[in-house]
Amino acid sequence: MPKQERRRDYSLQWNKNTTVLLSIATLLLMICLVICSVHVYRVLNTYRNFVDSSIVGQTGLDAELVTSNLSSNINVIRSMAEQLQQNENYEMDEASIYKLLLGVRNKSNLDRVVLMLKDGTTYSSERYSTMSGLEDLIPLASTDGSVVVAKTYFDFGDGMASYCIMLPVIHKGIIQGYLFGLSSTMDLLAGTETDSYSQIARSYVINEKGTIMAVSNSDVMFVLQNDDFYTDVLKDLSAEEDRDMMEESLRKSFATDHASYLTFKAKNDDWKLFYAPIEGQKGWTYINVVKESAVDALLLEIKVESYIAVFAVILLMLTLTFIVSRFVMSEQREMLKLAFEDSLTQAPNERYFLTHAAKLLKDYPDIAYRVISFDIQNFRYLNESYGHMKADDLLRIIVKQAEKEFSVRETYARIGADRFVALLVDDGRTNERIMHMEERIAKAASEEMINYPIKMKCGFYEVTDRKENIAAMIDKANLARKSVPSQGKELIAVYEDSLMEETRRREFIESKMEMALIAGEFVPYLQPKWDMKNDHIIAAEALVRWKQGNGELIPPNDFISIFETNGFIEKIDFYMLEEICKYLRKMLDEGREVYPISVNQSRYLLHDPSYTMNVQQVLLKYKIPKSLIELELTETVFFQERERMIEVMEELKRMNMDLSIDDFGSGFSSLNLLRDMPFDVLKIDRGFLNETNASETGKFILKKIVEMADGLGVRVICEGVETREQAEMLMEIGCNYAQGYLYSRPIAMEEFIEKYNTIVS
Ligand code: C2E
Ligand code: MG
Ligand code: MG
Repeated sequence: MPKQERRRDYSLQWNKNTTVLLSIATLLLMICLVICSVHVYRVLNTYRNFVDSSIVGQTGLDAELVTSNLSSNINVIRSMAEQLQQNENYEMDEASIYKLLLGVRNKSNLDRVVLMLKDGTTYSSERYSTMSGLEDLIPLASTDGSVVVAKTYFDFGDGMASYCIMLPVIHKGIIQGYLFGLSSTMDLLAGTETDSYSQIARSYVINEKGTIMAVSNSDVMFVLQNDDFYTDVLKDLSAEEDRDMMEESLRKSFATDHASYLTFKAKNDDWKLFYAPIEGQKGWTYINVVKESAVDALLLEIKVESYIAVFAVILLMLTLTFIVSRFVMSEQREMLKLAFEDSLTQAPNERYFLTHAAKLLKDYPDIAYRVISFDIQNFRYLNESYGHMKADDLLRIIVKQAEKEFSVRETYARIGADRFVALLVDDGRTNERIMHMEERIAKAASEEMINYPIKMKCGFYEVTDRKENIAAMIDKANLARKSVPSQGKELIAVYEDSLMEETRRREFIESKMEMALIAGEFVPYLQPKWDMKNDHIIAAEALVRWKQGNGELIPPNDFISIFETNGFIEKIDFYMLEEICKYLRKMLDEGREVYPISVNQSRYLLHDPSYTMNVQQVLLKYKIPKSLIELELTETVFFQERERMIEVMEELKRMNMDLSIDDFGSGFSSLNLLRDMPFDVLKIDRGFLNETNASETGKFILKKIVEMADGLGVRVICEGVETREQAEMLMEIGCNYAQGYLYSRPIAMEEFIEKYNTIVS
């Protein structure tokens, strides 16, 4: 399987949180957009309304100006007519007439003032310039002395049409002639603000018929084709009938006494007509025609500014969202790390494993998987011997190797102290892979100066039901791991259903042990050690029994290994030592014959630095001679422990304690021991005896061991002697001491006292 850098997959949790975050951000952004758009719309609308109403106001003012321009000229003409009419005989010399005309022209804005008498004689303020065509206007003039303003086409040098104020001069009820005041139409518009709008509007003055009396010279929008305002303005409307309707509606609107505006649709644009009446001239209207797009162009700047503001707000929001989400994400990452990672080693934790393993099982339905639970054998003692810092280093090494070893389709977690769990692809090579990993861990550990032999204890559980709870799978793999015998060579076990029963048993024992100790349910039984040659007792071994409240006895094999794993063994061993001391004290006090009693001492006791002192204290407390207590130690498999064991044994020997090596030959015993360890008694394991029965070689080896022990001055006791043949064989090879059912089973203390602790008279 290709090794790949494993990545922690927090995506399961990520997606949910990120989605919520992004949804909130999007919602906020949308709200922001809506608010901004509404705001821009309102601003533009307000501004447009403001522009409209200011043009309406200006149109009103301009209309007043036109009114005043026109009426001042009319008044001048009128007063001249009055002057002429007041002339009794209506006789004036030519010079006076010219003088009068010139005076009137100079007083007004008129370009020319002309008097035409009924006989055709014409006097003009511009004395030497001819003025033809005026007679054509006479039919338009009033006969009642009222003023008529008509359009003419004299050009006063500005290229524009002109208008003419006409007034009959009536004397004694007879029209004596006509006064004409002529001026460029531009004079009508003099002073109006049409120039300010020249880029967007065209200003008209129209009369009651719709004839254009004056028009601003703006050529931006319209090309004036004729004199009729309605024709000129409405020519852009597509349908003929629309034009008629429109003209009708415009006419109605213009018949008003105040400034206002209306809109209508032309072919290419929307138009606005701002209009106001011109006082004194019935049906005259001042009009500003404005194209909507031209107003829009005016608004462009404000529009651009608003959009820039909106864009800036959105950008700000996006940046904020980005910053906040980055912040939240990094916070979340930290939180996820806290929630899913082990702070010491940065390995994934059990919570992560539960989720991720479930995901892998779902994602890869075709892959066979195994759940493996592993720990480091005797990690507790490694912790004590090397200290926590080194032990932590070892854990980090394991994590580093695990990261390298497991593929992306696998996962693992640290679930406690030195306990790990992994989901491995079951490719038939899992054992090899574990061994390989163990080697690499051991190598890395030795580089870190940890020379303790690193052995991984593993429990496997084959995943058969993928829907099974992952926690239950871990439990089963854990069970398998715990079932690995602590002294065994094979450190790998596979889960079987029967382990469940063992677990229940273990849990039962662990739940009861503390109370049982307090209640005195642990009792020492004694088994004599026998001098076979002389056939009598020489000593005894104290063996613990758990006598439950209901009288039922639990043999040590059912609980010692459990106590060894949970550490309770230390309490039991000291309790037994104390019970034996109490018993011996009592025997001594009662003057009975006593034999040395050996007590079993778990190897786990050796790690307690105050162990030897504690032993001494118990003996002192009950004033027991050291020769009456023998300590039985089982040789350990582990190099480091063995060193410690030798150290402790030497210390005990300096205290004059008797020591025996228990279960010699049961597993890993080596003859080197006999040389290195200071001890007094070698107890040959009963398994050895069984094998010896079967083979001559065994017998030979046993004989050599006995000889060697003799040579060293060590006494040999053979355990488990059950038959006379065995006893005879032992004596034959020089072993005279035995412990076995042939002589006595372990018996209750009272029985032992009665049988062997006879009162010395
Ligand atoms: P051990 O120390 O080797 O004790 C000898 C065991 O062999 C005892 O088993 C004893 O009953 C058994 N035995 C003696 N003679 C014969 C025989 O002729 N045939 C057979 N089949 N068995 C015989 P027991 O009492 O069940 O103890 C088992 C082991 O439990 C002990 O082995 C010892 O390792 C441990 N143990 C017992 N009591 C204590 C204790 O107080 N502390 C510690 N740490 N371990 C203890
Ligand atoms: Mg023993
Ligand atoms: Mg033994």
